[in-house]
Amino acid sequence: MSGDGSSVEAAAGRSPDDRDRNAHDLPLDAHLHTDLSPDGDVPIDVYAALAVERGIRELAITDHVDFDARDPAYEYASFERRERTVREAAERWAPRGVTIRFGAELTYNTAWDADLRRHLATHAYDFTIGSVHDWPDSPYVPWKVRSWATGRSLAEALGPYLEQITAAARSGLFDTIGHIDVVRRYLHASWSAPEIYGAVELFEPALRALIGSGTALELNSSGYRHPAHEAYPGPPLLARYRELGGTVVTAGSDAHREQQFAWGLEAAYRVLAEAGITALTFRRDGVRTRIPLPDPSSIPSAGDAA
Ligand SMILES: [Zn+2]
Ligand SMILES: [Zn+2]
Repeated sequence: MSGDGSSVEAAAGRSPDDRDRNAHDLPLDAHLHTDLSPDGDVPIDVYAALAVERGIRELAITDHVDFDARDPAYEYASFERRERTVREAAERWAPRGVTIRFGAELTYNTAWDADLRRHLATHAYDFTIGSVHDWPDSPYVPWKVRSWATGRSLAEALGPYLEQITAAARSGLFDTIGHIDVVRRYLHASWSAPEIYGAVELFEPALRALIGSGTALELNSSGYRHPAHEAYPGPPLLARYRELGGTVVTAGSDAHREQQFAWGLEAAYRVLAEAGITALTFRRDGVRTRIPLPDPSSIPSAGDAA
C-alpha cells in the first residue's frame, strides 16, 4: 500500500493552486487514516474535533490493512487496538453530534485473496474499502514503473492493475472499491490523465464488475491533491459508470494529515451531483443506507476543482 500517504502529497496537503478546499456541512467522509496507519499521523480526536467545527456529520475511520509482509501496514496496528480506539472515540464524540464508524482500507490482490477473505470472515468492520495499491511484485512501484511504461502501449501498461482492480470489484468482499483509477498516479510520468481517460473503455470490466457485485464506486477527493487535480475516478470514468447503469457511490477524502481532513470533498460531492447521483450509499449498523446528497446549488462549483 505504498501509494497513499507519500511524502509529496502529505507534506503539502493542498494542491499547488492553494485554494481553500476545506469542506463544510456535509453528511459523510467515508475514507480517513489516523496515526494507526503507517503513513498517517492524525490522532482520531483531531478528526472528530474538525468534524464538529466544520459540520461533517459522519466519519468512517479506514486505517490500512495489508496482507503482504513487505507492505507497511502488515500487522502495523492490531484489529483489537484499531477497533477499541475507534469505538471509544465514537462514544466520546456522539454527544457532540459526530457519528464515527469503524472501517478499514484493505489492500486487495488475488495473491492474498484467501487471507483477506479469512480476515473479513473473522473480524467485523462497520465499513470496508478494498483498494489496489502498487503491490511489491507489481510493475508500478517507483523504481520499476518508468521502465515498465517504456515501449508498452497504454493498454499493456494498465493491464496488471486492471486485472487486480476488476478482481477486487468482482470479489463482493467490500462495501466499496477505493480510488478505482489510482493507477493514473503511478503512470503519470508516462501518460497524462486525459490520455488515460481517452481509453476509458479499458476500465469497463472493472466498472461492470462493481455493478454486478453491488459494490459501491468511491469518489476519492485525494486526487485533487495529486498532479492531475482530478478526483479518483476522474469525470470520464464516472460518466462511463453512469452510462453502464451504476448508481451506488460513496465519497471520502482519504486524509492522512490533519489539513487533508474532508479536503476537496465538496468538489467531489458536486461532481457526483452533476453526474446525476442523488445519494451516497453507506453501511450503517449492518444496513446499506442511502444518504441524500445536499442540494447541488448549495455545493461550490466543481469547476473550482478543475
Ligand atoms: Zn488507498
Ligand atoms: Zn486510503
